[in-house]
Parts: sequence; structure tokens; C-alpha cells
Amino acid sequence: MRYSQSLIPTLKETPAEAVVASHRLLLRGGYIRKLTAGIYSYLPLGLAAVRKVEQIVREEMNRAGAQELLLPMVQPADLWHETGRYQKYGPELLRFRDRHDRESCLGPTHEEVITDLARREIRSYRDMGKNLYQIQTKFRDEIRPRFGLMRGREFIMKDAYSFDVDDEQSENCYQLMFDAYKRIFTRCGLDFRPVEADSGTIGGSFSHEFMVLADTGEDTLVICSSCKYAANMEKAAVKAPAADDAPLLDLEKVETPGKRKVAAVCDFLDIDPSELVKTLVFLADGEPVAVLVRGDREVEEVKLKNQIGAVEVEMADDKQVYDATGVPTGYLGPVGIKVKLLVDSEVAAMKNFTVGGNEKNYHMKNVNIGRDFEGTTVADLRQITKDDPCPECGAPITLREGIEVGHIFKLGTGYSEAMEAYYKDRDGEEKPMVMGCYGIGVSRVVAAAIEQNHDENGIIFPMPLAPVQVILLNLGINDAEISKVAESLYAELQEKGVEVLLDDRDERPGFKFKDADLLGIPLRVTVGKRLTKDGVVELRQRKDGSTEELTPEQLSDRVLALIDSAMKAAQ
Ligand code: ATP
Ligand code: MG
Repeated sequence: MRYSQSLIPTLKETPAEAVVASHRLLLRGGYIRKLTAGIYSYLPLGLAAVRKVEQIVREEMNRAGAQELLLPMVQPADLWHETGRYQKYGPELLRFRDRHDRESCLGPTHEEVITDLARREIRSYRDMGKNLYQIQTKFRDEIRPRFGLMRGREFIMKDAYSFDVDDEQSENCYQLMFDAYKRIFTRCGLDFRPVEADSGTIGGSFSHEFMVLADTGEDTLVICSSCKYAANMEKAAVKAPAADDAPLLDLEKVETPGKRKVAAVCDFLDIDPSELVKTLVFLADGEPVAVLVRGDREVEEVKLKNQIGAVEVEMADDKQVYDATGVPTGYLGPVGIKVKLLVDSEVAAMKNFTVGGNEKNYHMKNVNIGRDFEGTTVADLRQITKDDPCPECGAPITLREGIEVGHIFKLGTGYSEAMEAYYKDRDGEEKPMVMGCYGIGVSRVVAAAIEQNHDENGIIFPMPLAPVQVILLNLGINDAEISKVAESLYAELQEKGVEVLLDDRDERPGFKFKDADLLGIPLRVTVGKRLTKDGVVELRQRKDGSTEELTPEQLSDRVLALIDSAMKAAQ
């Protein structure tokens, strides 16, 4: 590839909207351009990096016995009505009507389409045991598209779906995919962790997310310092403490004028937030529910959602709280409360705590479950903190930020039953297909790789994902000898299978060096004045800035050796 012929519009300035490194550097490096919110064009180098990820994904999916196909992006709404997701999916599903007034949508995922295909084409147990995947552009009308390729509205995904005869076969497939994903992200050269993820109604440990460790990640991971436990914070269980056996004190109603926030109430009453219990109201599919958690804790909405089997859970606003309970925000408590109440297991172990008084400007002290109110539903509902022990082994845990690049999920028979995807087993009996689904955010992988690998000068691509392996700088465009050697190295490297970008622009050396750093190509070869003076060219590694001087004859072997060792390191 010649720079002069390619479209690599690098930018000196950082575009104002880019707050994370990958977004900033992909724009500055001329890898992508924004068309409109959350929708990007991939320029030649951006596409080359995406293709690298795709290639690795393809090889490993094929090796695991999966088959590639390509499904339509436009999907009829009828299929989504069959599973009830036309309603449930919410505004992320982009819906429209065609010229015949037929409801349609743009595929955010393909369970419905693939299940429709399976129910038509697969009849017998003999045809089961299929894992089908595609690499395709998805559309999700994300509420907050941001961070460039990290959370787009249009993005490239690999999605696979498996159809098996029973749970055992399905779980074998799940394990195959788990192993394939580990190989994929290792081969991408990424520092990642598989973590247990929320599996909604399926239960068991049949949902894992693959997380690239990076400070800008939108997910928090819980990692045990001692055992193998690693989970998404949403899922991480909190061990319930032993019950406090203090004697019950007399209930007391106290005036707390204008004190609504935990900190203000605690200051005023001279108690610790761990002695106070918050009563928080959520709307679960529109229905109000109240949750009790300790004053210094947060409710984990995913746990709440699973506990009550709701599709959507959101915090109620002041008006909704008042409408549901008749109590102004800040003074709500469990004693005599009018809405369904859930109690976090930590609170269930507490005695003599302080709560809102269910009346403006009042709180209650020495409140106790059972005596003062019924705490019938007790569950693990709070978010884990860094000071909690590992739920598996009790050792200390650490919290890390991560970017979700992959997700594998056992689906069971939910979709196949809703869509009547049955097969005939050995005895001629009709049985629902047992399904799994397995996604990778292909375009997000490129962004995640950059979040993990960059410095103040630009991207530092891991060798396996770099759009090209070598950038070759001709620093003497108008010098016959320099140009001749640069051209011949360009030809020689390509002949030996090396991917090279030849910077043949008539620009100053400093300018070319800056662009080379920004683009993050792993190896940089400079042909310039040192050639005419000493007969050498320079080879520099982007990752550590180390340089060596070689004769043009030595160069290609050394480049091949460096590429080889970088690729081997990621295996
Ligand atoms: P998230 O929690 O980040 O929204 P998700 O749970 O909605 O992800 P899945 O439905 O499991 O994601 O999709 C499979 C993969 O597609 C994800 O693991 C992620 O890597 C990628 N992905 C999902 N949404 C986006 C997006 N808006 N932009 C880029 N990649 C995405
Ligand atoms: Mg999402």
C-alpha cells in the first residue's frame, strides 16, 4: 500500500467529541470518520484492522466446527411478534414500514431469523448439532452512542447460534465456544478475562462475558485474589453476614428537619451510614417496588430484575415515589409502607437500625424486622464492593474496569418453544431445539485493543491486529539512491508476505515520524540520509521505541523474525 494512493487523513488536532483514547486516535489516525451519531465509515486502514479481527474469528469458529452463513439485515416484524420481543426489545430496535406497509426492523441480533431458518430446514435429530455464525453489520438505536467504535449504533458483530438435541450437547457446544473465545482473544494479543455474567432466567453458569481490561471499560469486574472466581459486578453474589444478636431497643420516632440525604441524616443523628437503612423505590415494568439496603450500599438493578422477574427496572423519580407511597423523597421507610417491599440480606441481619419515618422531617430509630414491619422477601440485592470477600472462597477481591468484547450464552428452549422450532428425536417424538448464542463485537475489539495499547503519541497496535505490519518511510523522495532502496525494500518485503505501507509522500521527516507513531504500525523502517552516508537503514519497534541499524540486505530477515516472534507470543 502506498501512502500517496491511500486515504489516510490524519489529524493534528483532537476532535472535541472524542473523550476516550480509541475514539480520539481512530479519528486522528484517519481510521474512521463519523457520518452521524454512532455511525462511522471505516477508511482503508480502519477496515484493514477490522479484517484482521474477522480473520482470527473465522479461523477459530471454523476450527470449532461452526459454519459461516449470512443472514439478512432487514427482518420482518412478524418473527419478532412470535417471541414477544417486538414489544420487549424497546427503542433500541429500529422499526420501519416498507412500501407495502409491512412492519420491519433492522437486525440488532438474529435469534428470530436463525430460529425461523432452523425450524424450516432442520427436522430430525440427525440434522441437529449445528452451530451457525455470521459476521455482519448490526443496528441498535443505542440511547447513548459514544466512544466511537466502542458503542456505536451501527457496528460489526460476529454472532453464532447453536441447535442441539439436549442440554448435555448444548453445554458441550458452550464449552467449545468458551475455549474458542479464549483462543480468539489471545490471538488478538489482548489482555482479557472471561467472567461469569448475568444469565437472566436461564440460571447456572452458562453465561460468560469476555472482558478486555482497560480503565475506560463500562463494566466492572470482580476478580478474586486467590481462587479462579471472576464475575461481572452485576452478577457477583454477596455473602450474607451472620445475624446481629443485639437485644431489641424501643422504636423511636425522631425529628430530622430538612435532612433527606443519607449523609445529612447520619450527621444530624450522629450515626454511621452502616447503621442506617435506605428505602429505595424502583419501577419494575411500571410497578413500584421498594428495596431496603444499608445506607452505604447500592442496589444492583440486575439482581433486582432477576429476583422479581421483570424485563425493565428503573429508579423511580420523586414524583413517582410520592404517587406510590404518599411520602416525600428522603423520608420513606418500611414501617407501614404501601408498596411491595424487598429486603437485602445484609439488612435482614441487622438490628436496631434507622429508617425514614414515612412523614416529612421524620426518621425512626431502633427499627427491627418482624417486630416493626414484615420483611418477607429477603434476597441478595446489593452491589458487591471492593471490601466484600470472594463469594466462592472468602479471600479478598479486586475490582477492575473492563470492555465487553464477547458474550456466550446458553439460551435453552425459550426461543425454540416460542417459535415452534422442534425436531423429531430417535423415537419420533417432537422436541424443542436447545439453543445457545455467542457474540463478538468485532469493531469493538479494535477499539478495545487501542484502549489497552496506546501512548501520548498514538496507537500501539498488537501485531496480530495491526492494519499493516510495517511502515516504510522514504525520507528522500527526491533522492534517487534513497528512493531506489526504499522501493526495492518495499517490493522485497511484500514478496516475502509482509504487509507494508510505504510512506512515499513528499513531506518532512518529522511529519512522517509523527504520522507513523500516530498510526501505531508495529515496525517502522526508515530509509534516509544514513543510507547515503553509512549504507544503513533504521528499524524501530513502536511498542518500546527500540531501534537497530541494518544494511538493506539484512532488513527483511530481521523484519520477518520480529513479526514471527510477535505472532507466536499471541498464541
Ligand atoms: P452492552 O452491554 O455493551 O450493550 P450487549 O450485552 O448489549 O452489550 P450482546 O447483545 O451480547 O451485547 O452483543 C454481543 C457483542 O456485541 C457484545 O459483547 C459487544 O462486544 C458487542 N456490542 C454490543 N453492543 C454494541 C455497540 N453498541 N457497539 C459496538 N459493539 C457492541
Ligand atoms: Mg447492549
